[in-house]
Amino acid sequence: MPVDFDTIVNLSKKRGFVFQSSEIYGGLRSAYDYGPLGVELLRNVKEQWWQSMVRMRDDVVGLDSAIIQSPQVWEASGHVSSFSDPLVECTNCNTRHRLDKLEDPSQCPVCGKRDTFTEAKDFNLMFETHMGPVDTDENKVYLRPETAQGIFINFENVRRTSRLKLPFGIAQIGKSFRNEITPGQFVFRTREFEQMEMEFFCRPEESQQWFEYWLEARRQWYLDLGMKPESLRLREHESDELSHYSAATYDVEYHFPWGWDELEGIANRTDFDLRAHAEESGKDLRYYDQETNERFFPHVIEPAAGATRTTFAFLLDAYSEETVDGEERIVLRLDKRLAPIQVAVLPLSKKPDLVETTQKVADLIREDYDIEIDVTQSIGRRYRRQDEIGTPYCVTIDFDTLDDQQVTVRDRDTMAQDRIAIDALPGYLAERF
Ligand code: ATP
Repeated sequence: MPVDFDTIVNLSKKRGFVFQSSEIYGGLRSAYDYGPLGVELLRNVKEQWWQSMVRMRDDVVGLDSAIIQSPQVWEASGHVSSFSDPLVECTNCNTRHRLDKLEDPSQCPVCGKRDTFTEAKDFNLMFETHMGPVDTDENKVYLRPETAQGIFINFENVRRTSRLKLPFGIAQIGKSFRNEITPGQFVFRTREFEQMEMEFFCRPEESQQWFEYWLEARRQWYLDLGMKPESLRLREHESDELSHYSAATYDVEYHFPWGWDELEGIANRTDFDLRAHAEESGKDLRYYDQETNERFFPHVIEPAAGATRTTFAFLLDAYSEETVDGEERIVLRLDKRLAPIQVAVLPLSKKPDLVETTQKVADLIREDYDIEIDVTQSIGRRYRRQDEIGTPYCVTIDFDTLDDQQVTVRDRDTMAQDRIAIDALPGYLAERF
């Protein structure tokens, strides 16, 4: 049973994962700020992606390209002409909607009236601004709507400097912007968001094989990080859903409280982008194969995930409520690598010698883990708070610690407690992380 949507929104706000942006000014719709716990969780999700996509592989390198690029990039990529959604307006209540996302395309979901929509028009999703002090059309630039094009335009730079041979990939994490017609469902669809994208360049005849490889590798990434198998599925795009550049696309979908929805798209982009940029720029972006003496445009498999959307899904998936000894317990069963706080260090009371020992214990492990020292409230309440934010281990310093130099380590999931020597703590934790 997926967790109720409002429960996670409330928990996010109450515990400091996600806040509405500009809240003190009444809030800016569809923009969110990540609080002390949210920023750690988001960073951990991105870190795990980078680890598996770049650091653990010899055939993928990283890139961080600019958000503002030459407008020609977006001409060539097809975004200026066709990165749009069908917009309709209800003539009764004047609300605007994205036609392809409406449950019933003839009925307004706000006022309920039928056949009140205007003719659909293509609404381009790119944010426009001007570069420099003059806001004329010649100075018009766009905020990137995806990170992918920054990779394609650097294909030759990266190939030359990294000396990689096909097949190889270029990965990037960063902000993207889309002027969505109907943002919503919390951080699921926002106008400013973060993406984790990789373009994997290969020989055209090997593209199907790599497509299948990445479908499985990407599905496995979510499962390895603890997402429940029943919350995840792969869905193939129908031919009328395919983007202008794609020969085939699968979505990795998560079972959100409102139903199945996209976390990541894995597309076979063929040679569309490199060919388009070669044409627009006049630069030869073909790959030269020294062994066969051939020049050709590589084909591209793209796993494109949303960092912010995926972070939300991990939160939803980790949430659980259970009853222990007649009391309700809320636990975020986040993977240890994702948890915003990995170890909480808790003195039983605020007594100065306990607090001093707490500092010593914290210093012993702070270099290796995200830790938090919490000295307020009863120990029971502090455990409950740590469970609720997903902290895998709590280390408690009590009065006996002063004599025997031992601490109690409590496991979030089993609630089992081990008494161990302070000196042995780093080894004990290392075994478990
Ligand atoms: P949708 O159909 O939901 O509008 P899309 O198919 O256009 O999304 P892609 O262009 O494939 O999305 O982008 C790759 C990933 O980036 C998506 O799977 C999603 O995780 C993330 N993403 C895209 N748009 C948004 C958004 N407005 N807010 C948050 N994440 C987004």
